[in-house]
Amino acid sequence: MKNSSRRVFMLQVAAGSAVLAAGAAQAQTPPMVNEKDAQPMAMGYAADTTKVDAKKFPKHAAAQKCDNCALYTGKAGAASGPCGIFPGKAVAANGWCSAYAKKA
Ligand code: SF4
Repeated sequence: MKNSSRRVFMLQVAAGSAVLAAGAAQAQTPPMVNEKDAQPMAMGYAADTTKVDAKKFPKHAAAQKCDNCALYTGKAGAASGPCGIFPGKAVAANGWCSAYAKKA
């Protein structure tokens, strides 16, 4: 292998590794749930639990948030994480929806 073709090969390997690393990073951080989408709207999802409509959800309490909900599987201290209600998406740790169930 000539030096120039070897160099091209090494650049291709490096570029391929970067693409794989980017793909892995994306797989670890799913897109955030959009409050304006139909399902989150129907569930009363808010990315900030303090912004929940109290008239619509009178049983909501400010202490209820995704990171202390049984359906939240994000890491402790993370700003967001997965939720079983919204597969393939992440919810805000400080979010809330009407399916909230206090973590045991
Ligand atoms: Fe947050 Fe729980 Fe609703 Fe999921 S089910 S959005 S974790 S409050």
